[in-house]
Amino acid sequence: MTRDEQAKALRTEGKTFAEIGAILGVTRQAAQQLVNREPKEPLAVETRGRKRTVFENQRCWKCQKVLPLEEFTTAPSRLSGRASICKICNAVANRERKWDKLSIEQLEEQNQQAAELIKLREEYIQRRKSENSHF
Ligand SMILES: [Zn+2]
Repeated sequence: MTRDEQAKALRTEGKTFAEIGAILGVTRQAAQQLVNREPKEPLAVETRGRKRTVFENQRCWKCQKVLPLEEFTTAPSRLSGRASICKICNAVANRERKWDKLSIEQLEEQNQQAAELIKLREEYIQRRKSENSHF
């Protein structure tokens, strides 16, 4: 039995959302969401004239995690309608692509700028602390 089904069954027994939450080890709000969630069935979709079954979860080929479809960016050109790597892996790949365009000198300069910002931030925090210590 899935957690959705468990929550729905408890609700049918007349339990409150708070009670369901306590039983399933989740918050009251989460319990309410579980009860109200529509049962998810694999969707039969037709993209580019081909029928496909889309499941609610998909494996990211990069990090190998099985994640809900919302964790993948939409990719209309793909049959599944979703990208094959998750949003986080996608963000990392985008950043690396950006870094690829920079020379080692440019990367070092960026590093230098970041280090200066960190130093300024630390000085600012120290200054705030010493200002506050007067009170
Ligand atoms: Zn991933």
